Amino acid sequence: MNPARQKPNPDSGTMKKFLPFFYLPAAALWTACAPEPAITDAQPETRIEYPRDAHSLSVPSEVAVRHLMLNLRADFDRNVLSGSAAYTLEQNGGDTLVLDVRGLVVDSVFTTNGEGERMPSAFDIAEGNERGDALRIVGVSDAELAEVWYTTAPDAAALMWNTPEQTHDKKSPFLFTQGQAILTRSWIPIQDSPAIRITYEAEIHVPEGMMALMSASNPTEKTSDGVYRFEMLQPVPPYLMALAAGDFSFAPLGERTGVYAEPGLLDAAAYEFADTEKMLETAEALYGPYVWGRYDILVLPPAFPFGGMENPRLTFVTPTIIAGDRSLTGLIAHELAHSWSGNLVTNATWDDFWLNEGFTVYFEKRIMEALYGRDYAEMLNVLGYTDLKETLAYLGPESPDTRLKLDLDGRDPDAGMTDIAYEKGYLFLRWLEELFGRENFDTFLAEYFSTHAFQTMTTERFIEYLDERLFAFTDPRPDVEEWIYRPGLPETHPVPESDAFDKIDAFREAWEGGEILAQALPVGEWSTHEWLHFLRGLPESTDADALAAIDRAHGLTGRGNSEIAFAWYMIAVRNDYRPAFGALEKFLTRVGRRKFIKPLYEALSENESHKAWAREVYREARDNYHSVTASSVDEVLEG
Ligand SMILES: [Zn+2]
Repeated sequence: MNPARQKPNPDSGTMKKFLPFFYLPAAALWTACAPEPAITDAQPETRIEYPRDAHSLSVPSEVAVRHLMLNLRADFDRNVLSGSAAYTLEQNGGDTLVLDVRGLVVDSVFTTNGEGERMPSAFDIAEGNERGDALRIVGVSDAELAEVWYTTAPDAAALMWNTPEQTHDKKSPFLFTQGQAILTRSWIPIQDSPAIRITYEAEIHVPEGMMALMSASNPTEKTSDGVYRFEMLQPVPPYLMALAAGDFSFAPLGERTGVYAEPGLLDAAAYEFADTEKMLETAEALYGPYVWGRYDILVLPPAFPFGGMENPRLTFVTPTIIAGDRSLTGLIAHELAHSWSGNLVTNATWDDFWLNEGFTVYFEKRIMEALYGRDYAEMLNVLGYTDLKETLAYLGPESPDTRLKLDLDGRDPDAGMTDIAYEKGYLFLRWLEELFGRENFDTFLAEYFSTHAFQTMTTERFIEYLDERLFAFTDPRPDVEEWIYRPGLPETHPVPESDAFDKIDAFREAWEGGEILAQALPVGEWSTHEWLHFLRGLPESTDADALAAIDRAHGLTGRGNSEIAFAWYMIAVRNDYRPAFGALEKFLTRVGRRKFIKPLYEALSENESHKAWAREVYREARDNYHSVTASSVDEVLEG
């Protein structure tokens, strides 16, 4: 009965043309030098069966878009993009092309038939819901091409037009997009479902002196006229369409890797991300060739709502991971891992989000372990496990949102972006690894990625694949349904353990018990992770003198390391430790990363006087947040 559980046709064979490349024996893949894939025509030969997607009004089973040609001008005075989006069409027997739109002003629509005749086309916009409307273009059954001329809204949900003051160098404005989960429709009329895959080319016009970048082939130098051309020859889901424009410089990090940042931030960024090429090689050694050509990173302004976004060929990252000591680069391993889990094999709907994120966290931790050792990776795993336990407590053990397979019908898919998809998903894969042994599980995963490259995956199809490839000779069959369809954590779940953290626990207890003074804690030897474990292990209520003593001894208020600062401010709010509130206000005003901002506002909302103060701060800060963060905080403070 649950239509979201409808199975896609496993024989859809979307990418038959890739088979010679991906069907090399796994051992050969692992030693391959990862050539640029020779892709000349990524259009499928057979019709795809599209799963029902509760978050898209498009009807690709009638007419689907296959290739997008974008021509847009960025107007930094009006904060709008305007121009055209043209699509080649896949005719599946319908007469109407339906595109998701949100807040777009559509001027005109044209279609071109097989004889090359271009003519204006009738269209209307059918009102949908707060997540978007449907642009309907009728009479397209013999059209090869459709073309939409439009302008975005100044407050388009995907776009953030940072003023120079909101950037690092404070010289140039900075535009960036955030497409995931369903925001691409606010800057491109598109069939905005992860089950859709398109190739694209684009011509982007920005003011002279600025550089434009996309999730595509990118320039490394500015052009003299502000016109940039892009090509993405591998088919990607619309949520991975990305654009940024600003004053960028480029620094290579390795043969296939590099970083873009504002000039004043470039050296720090290049230092922080120096291991990126090694991460890429490590990832390939684990699960097969990197197929996207280059892997570059773009550092965004602090308003970016996420830690990172895995836009193909060009990961977008928050500047809050530039800690000066390379301690937060697990995030780069995470975004890089998405080049396989998510970008290559994509969740079919947002209910299957754990297939993107659980796999990616697992892969990320394997990269970190290969590069920095098991002890290091286990520290990260314990921190992730702590996050998960907090999330489970927050949502409640019986909450349906603690199941891996979600039911987001009627809700913003953003609601599914919790630690469940990430950390419970990770533990599930770790549990499989421990059941079947690392070697077997690695072979299974490498094959999973190569077999389903450039395809979408539902939870149900993945279970079938487990049955076929991993469980065939296993008796009794592992109870994966308990992990996937039931709330909470199965009793037999793996528990990460870290000796380094056990030592931190001992120091914390000694300090709490008055056996050692704050200044005697050996923090000189502590990594960011050890600090985080120390702080997060403090009891709910800690006495103000103790907080003042540790703050005096180790300067926690105003810390430049965003993770440590965040953990400390949570403690400060819980315990009404006022000396930290000035720095907290600055943090809330400068940073827009939702992972930090939302919990801080939530903690502040638990006390009426804090809440009044938080509302004051938010009045000033809101303009510095992307819509993703602002709408989350709106909910917190309105409630
Ligand atoms: Zn991710």
